[in-house]
Amino acid sequence: MFSKILIANRGEIALRVLRACREMGIRTVAVHSTADADAMHVRLADEAVCIGPPAARESYLNVAAILSAATITGAEAIHPGYGFLSENADFAETVEAHGLAFIGPTAEHIRTMGDKITAKTTMEALGVPLVPGSDGELANIDEAREVAARVGYPVLIKAAAGGGGRGMKVAHSEGELAEAWSVARTEALAAFGNDAVYLEKYLDRPRHIELQILGDMYGNVVHFGERDCSLQRRHQKLLEEAGSPVLSVEERDAIGATATAALSKMGYRNAGTLEFLYQDGQFCFIEMNTRLQVEHPVTEMVSDVDLVREQIRIAAGEKLGYGQSDITFSGHAIECRINAEDPDTFIPCPGTVDVFHAPGGLGVRVDSALYSGYRVPPFYDSMIAKLIVHAPTRAAAIARMQRALDEIVVEGVKTVIPLHRRILADPEFQRGDYTIHWLENFTARNT
Ligand code: ADP
Repeated sequence: MFSKILIANRGEIALRVLRACREMGIRTVAVHSTADADAMHVRLADEAVCIGPPAARESYLNVAAILSAATITGAEAIHPGYGFLSENADFAETVEAHGLAFIGPTAEHIRTMGDKITAKTTMEALGVPLVPGSDGELANIDEAREVAARVGYPVLIKAAAGGGGRGMKVAHSEGELAEAWSVARTEALAAFGNDAVYLEKYLDRPRHIELQILGDMYGNVVHFGERDCSLQRRHQKLLEEAGSPVLSVEERDAIGATATAALSKMGYRNAGTLEFLYQDGQFCFIEMNTRLQVEHPVTEMVSDVDLVREQIRIAAGEKLGYGQSDITFSGHAIECRINAEDPDTFIPCPGTVDVFHAPGGLGVRVDSALYSGYRVPPFYDSMIAKLIVHAPTRAAAIARMQRALDEIVVEGVKTVIPLHRRILADPEFQRGDYTIHWLENFTARNT
């Protein structure tokens, strides 16, 4: 096992990794930008190294500075968290070339899944069902027209290098296709430096259901059930649940068996998430994330497994030591992402949090690096906390989340807490009756 790990991230996820390390008796190295000198992950780590100025590309994305920090502190492994360098295959490769362990999958698998077209063709070859669409990259608008006519409108033009919902445009009819094609390509080129696009049938009422996977270095792959992440705004998740209110145990077992068989064949190791759109009882793979997800705590709550601990054990070469039948689920979990944003306009609201009071009590978990007096810097993601609850049933989890949302206090910056309260009180949400389009309609109705 490692004796020292460098955490190449900030905020709540840096803290999350640090907590797992502490419990495993592993020393931690925090890295931080000058804007984060007073951050919680810096205060709580055993050692901390400043790696650059506030701009992420000069600090949290600065590979040379991060590797130097690892070398001077004698760290043996690097945990990338999510975002930043977590899905950067070159980074994973460089880390290993320096004789350190990268706590994640192989660079090759990160690269394969980082290109959504390769990801889809790889998964299809392994027997995973896809959304109907083009066979890979579209050569030109005429090909887009042909494929769209075959699968039927509406269609979605998506960037091969996409992420964060960018480079994605819907065309409801042939008349809208040329514009969707050119806007998606322009956006993709600007955001990712790659204008390759592909086409998918645009599903009108799917749920976003994803599967948490872990694999070790010896071909053992298991899944930890599903998360329903259908509540999204501009393709950004806001509230997640485990399990999904609509999936049966049989459906979970079936898609789980397909997914684990595919990843075992690939030799996939460490944590990964397969994202699906689910409509009319059908699963359609859309992408795979080769890292820990923001919403991993809901899975931890229902499966009682520390996923970060598992990631570290796997990277150290340990065997999983359990099989699919050892993984059981209990109760229901919900996560609300607390973003420092205006709850109506979603404009980020950085500033000083004058008062922070975390809710508590049975079944309540707060993953956050906040404290009273903390200044939310304007340079990074606006998520400042994750509020997670666990209870025996979905109804009890909703009641518990409502109670926790009443207790939480964040003063000084605007947050989406009022929006979460409205969602939790909504009868459709309470019935579990929602798709990926529900939240945008809900916010449009309520503002
Ligand atoms: P990104 O990597 O940018 O997050 P994804 O492929 O994961 O892109 O898609 C993000 C979200 O966009 C999905 O969760 C879903 O809400 C929506 N989406 C993606 N593909 C489709 C599709 N074919 N039909 C309808 N909605 C889609």
